[in-house]
Amino acid sequence: MQMEFDENVPLAPYTTLRVGGPARWFAEAASEPDVAMAVAFARDRRLPLFVLGGGSNLLVSDGGFPGLVLRVGLRGIDATGEGHLGGKAAYSVGAGEPWDAFVAYAVERKQAGLECLSGIPGLAGGTPVQNVGAYGQEVSQTIHQVRAYDRRALAYVLLSNAECGFAYRSSIFNTTERDRYIVTRVEYLLTPDGAPTVSYQDLKLYFKDSEATLSTVRQAVLEIRARKGMVISQGDRDSLSAGSFFKNPVEPSATLSRIAAALQLPEESVPHYPAGKTHMKLMAAWLIEQAGFRKGYRLGAAAISSRHTLAIVNCGEARARDIIALRDQIVEAVDRRFGIRLQPEPVWVGGPLPPPERI
Ligand SMILES: Cc1cc2nc3c(=O)[nH]c(=O)nc-3n(C[C@H](O)[C@H](O)[C@H](O)COP(=O)(O)OP(=O)(O)OC[C@H]3O[C@@H](n4cnc5c(N)ncnc54)[C@H](O)[C@@H]3O)c2cc1C
Repeated sequence: MQMEFDENVPLAPYTTLRVGGPARWFAEAASEPDVAMAVAFARDRRLPLFVLGGGSNLLVSDGGFPGLVLRVGLRGIDATGEGHLGGKAAYSVGAGEPWDAFVAYAVERKQAGLECLSGIPGLAGGTPVQNVGAYGQEVSQTIHQVRAYDRRALAYVLLSNAECGFAYRSSIFNTTERDRYIVTRVEYLLTPDGAPTVSYQDLKLYFKDSEATLSTVRQAVLEIRARKGMVISQGDRDSLSAGSFFKNPVEPSATLSRIAAALQLPEESVPHYPAGKTHMKLMAAWLIEQAGFRKGYRLGAAAISSRHTLAIVNCGEARARDIIALRDQIVEAVDRRFGIRLQPEPVWVGGPLPPPERI
């Protein structure tokens, strides 16, 4: 079927936050030739191009996007090499496959490696971009290679795990090579009949007195996430979010004593995890609470989720400017209290990010 290019398409319904203006042009790619055609369409018209997945990690500006928004909808899951590659099973997944359905599919087939990543919205093609992670697993641990259209070379390429440059919530796709690649397939290497990962504190507690299998770990993760409002569910007002709005800051270890002193607490009371030899990862949610915010705190039409301090939610009629105003209030308060500037996790869509009063 011929790909259609529609004009002035509202983007809010394509995002989990449900905010933002229209795309000047909008198209959905169902095949690899479609992707190349869309890139040519944008180049011929000198339009910027934005690649859309499930819209679960986006904040779209109220003015919308002035170029072509390309939704990558390529489907298909192929078991490409069970029993090969050191006993692992390879699954090549179309970028447009819903992520959680693929996790469920893997768990049903007793393939270990993704069970802790249950309940994360979005599409498979979005997972390498910020190296999706939760509850003790990250996709960088299972991604073997990524097939993508290189907008610079105008050709398809296969990128190995090492070439993707994965780190905490980052890869080349959202840092050094941002806007270069359009992911069309991702190949994951899973472990047939492997043991589930139970390394995260919440999961260890959950399985204190019961057996952890791949499917019980998936259920546990879904349950824990639902309690925190981190599973999209219709009618749940905490669901209109982009998940965690801030990354957990990675800071030099010496920062710990500064935070402890600011709060007159012993250093052990400040939640943190080692991150290499010289740094540590702090908990953004905890810092936000210590800076004076509570779950459910509301500013205009935006609020902090009533179940998780790290999520900013749209109370129903929010515009991007409302979300940004709350973001800025939180960032400034944490900076004033601890000298740490929190970095937002969602991707801003729609040109340079203006200060709140000019949005
Ligand atoms: C309730 C909730 C819970 C969440 N929990 C987690 C969590 O636990 N851990 C976590 O890491 N994230 C979490 N997220 C964030 C989000 O779900 C993930 O980052 C997800 O992988 C984004 O995928 P997406 O398809 O929705 O991408 P989008 O939001 O559409 O796009 C995100 C970025 O990826 C790029 N992109 C998307 N698809 C492609 C492609 N095919 N090729 C090239 N670039 C592409 C976009 O251009 C954009 O820059 C959560 C979000 C919500 C709403």
